[in-house]
Amino acid sequence: MPRFDVEMSTLRGWSSDCDERCGLCCLCQPELLPEEAPYFRRYHSKSLVRKSRPHKHLALALKKGRGSCVLLQDRRCSDYGNRPHFCRMFPFHFHVGERLSVELDLSCRVAWEGGGVPAEEEAARLVEKNEDRIEETLRLSRSVYQEFRANCEAAGVWAEPEELREQVRGHIRSFKDLRFLGQLMLLANDDLDFSLDEVDLRQADFDLEELEDAAREAALSSMDSSDPVGLPVYCGPDWSWNLYMSSPEGVEWKILDDDGDLQHRGFASAEQVGLLPLTPEGEEELLRYVSILNERDSIMGNACHLVDMYGYADHLSNAYFGVIAVAVIDLLWRASMLSHFHGYEMDREGMREAIIFYDMDRLDAPTIGAFI
Ligand code: SF4
Ligand code: SF4
Repeated sequence: MPRFDVEMSTLRGWSSDCDERCGLCCLCQPELLPEEAPYFRRYHSKSLVRKSRPHKHLALALKKGRGSCVLLQDRRCSDYGNRPHFCRMFPFHFHVGERLSVELDLSCRVAWEGGGVPAEEEAARLVEKNEDRIEETLRLSRSVYQEFRANCEAAGVWAEPEELREQVRGHIRSFKDLRFLGQLMLLANDDLDFSLDEVDLRQADFDLEELEDAAREAALSSMDSSDPVGLPVYCGPDWSWNLYMSSPEGVEWKILDDDGDLQHRGFASAEQVGLLPLTPEGEEELLRYVSILNERDSIMGNACHLVDMYGYADHLSNAYFGVIAVAVIDLLWRASMLSHFHGYEMDREGMREAIIFYDMDRLDAPTIGAFI
């Protein structure tokens, strides 16, 4: 039994395994822990780079500065037994806030296949191996959260996270409705407190085209090609690494190969991709994902980060509902884009592919707390 509370309810029913054809995790440039640095300096000195963000650290270099980790050969780690701590944690993300929450990266397509070890079992093993590190990080992050809550209360923008989650649970089926999402985004743009009961469909007097523009903007800004290294990668059913690079003209689809080279595959002007309607099965897959987002501490932590970043002018409820609404419309636009390039339907399968594309990016969003 760990010495602290562990939240891992979102892992229930999922499994953990790896496929040697994938290698998606090895595009993430793992940071080296201080105690790992001597080994890598000694045996892989030419494979290291110094990074200054979010803090100074050593990391493994990427092929041609933008491909996979230089130690990946034929999609296999060439020093697997000594791979860094961060590589050992994938496809799990350990979010340390007021408690430890273990989240499964749904960009790992093997997790959807149902084989391997139950995800909760594997996560429990990793928790046990990292107890000291987690406990130390918890001590620091709890004091950050106490300060955050005190700041919110002083500014009159605090809401109990569990109550916000309960509201989303109670309105979960509305999150497939574009009018509800549009109205939610209108209210979230205001800095006043509101409840989801107030998102009244009858008063949804916004233009659906506006929502489509917002969806396009959210998705395109997350695929901004001015920083190709940080671009989300979609690992396709054939294990190809697909990048979609946005520019003012539209979106270019490229394949990243094992040597770190980019091959052009297609182009679409932004107007060619419109929000496509989901089938009933696609809607159910979307709502299952929204339920997972709603239970993740990293999503709540992202809303907290936004409140802090904007100087406690927004209410936590606005920030939280806004984060979920933006996540849904970003996901829907990406699903429509994948449909355009790959011919997927907007059904369960198509939504699943969009989540595989989106989730790694979602888990990468800034948060109050730490990922260990
Ligand atoms: S994303 Fe999943 S299958 Fe792919 S390398 Fe990572 S753990 Fe393995
Ligand atoms: S060290 Fe190995 S496991 Fe880690 S990113 Fe590099 S190739 Fe992948």
